[in-house]
Amino acid sequence: MKKSFNSKIETIFLVAIFGLILVMVPVVMVVANSPQQKLKNIGYSDNEVELIFGSVGRQNIDRYIAYSSRSNTSIENIILVLGNDADGYEFSYSKIDILTHPDFDQSLLDNYMAYRMENHKAPIDAVVFLANKGINKKYDPILIDLVEEKYFIMERLERYLDYFAEYPGKNSFEVVRAVNSNTDIAFYSETRKTDIGHGILMLVNQLYRIGEDFSPNLVSIDSKFTFGFNLQVEEMVYDAFLQMTQEAERSGIRLGIISAFRSFAEQERFYNDSVRRLGLERGEMHAARAGHSEHHTGLVVDIRSITSPNSLFENTREFVWLQENAHRFGFILRYPKGKEFLTGYNFESWHWRFVGTEVATYIFENDIIFEEYHAFYIANRQ
Ligand SMILES: [Zn+2]
Repeated sequence: MKKSFNSKIETIFLVAIFGLILVMVPVVMVVANSPQQKLKNIGYSDNEVELIFGSVGRQNIDRYIAYSSRSNTSIENIILVLGNDADGYEFSYSKIDILTHPDFDQSLLDNYMAYRMENHKAPIDAVVFLANKGINKKYDPILIDLVEEKYFIMERLERYLDYFAEYPGKNSFEVVRAVNSNTDIAFYSETRKTDIGHGILMLVNQLYRIGEDFSPNLVSIDSKFTFGFNLQVEEMVYDAFLQMTQEAERSGIRLGIISAFRSFAEQERFYNDSVRRLGLERGEMHAARAGHSEHHTGLVVDIRSITSPNSLFENTREFVWLQENAHRFGFILRYPKGKEFLTGYNFESWHWRFVGTEVATYIFENDIIFEEYHAFYIANRQ
């Protein structure tokens, strides 16, 4: 009897202990994970923990601890920075978000706060991102998309935003592309002189004109390529053309030239003729005004097939070969099919512009037009 009584007590005791452990484990875990305990683990005394809680409020303490360990700043110091703000809870709250943001830059703190004050709806990620880029335009999600575009140009930001305001259905890729190609500027409305210092990369189009007296270093083209006409082209371009024809001929491709350098006066006649035949609008899609033709640079050859000179050039083997190979010799298809809205010109399968092999290969591989290349890699980097 005595023995079984003892074992009953023993059982009750064990169950009680076990129950107590079951209850205590979560309590201990909660206590260990509590902000109080975390602060104590960092080394704050009970008294200091009370003070910190009083200053920052229980709901923010985890952020302070995270920021403190990441920035190597004591919590007292963070409180000192934040504590004097009389701007109310909302403002302090975003300041904590900003201070604890992974891309936070201490020297830009005032910029973040100013941007946040003026753009209450901007997410903190956007505030930090835009301020880090030095942008303080009114917040719109398109801003982030624009900046992240490969060919984004800071100086053109205003133009991107104007273009987007006009065509809100366009995405950031389309906006950057259109503005870098200058399609936001009406044809011939703001012409300026091109910088001939760019040499083979000089830009001549409806916006950039070349001086009337500009004269490249011309050489005569062998008449076997020109259907008997007397044509001239920039020497460097001729060398590249000769190399290209040599390789092309090995594949039975025979490249002829129907037009190359054109002087200001010649272009003027060509333009007037075009407009007379086609009317102003279509004529201008076909021929550039004098001073705005790439032919004046001496860097262009208009190519025709020698074996099938009467075929539409885009239907010839020669055109197919050029599309695949011309970039290796420094030539680009200047007015491609499907890019009329960017170039402002009808597709011209015959018009090949020399820009050198490196740039031609880049333009070919990245499927951009010369204006886009020029805007981003040349004008942008001066
Ligand atoms: Zn041409």
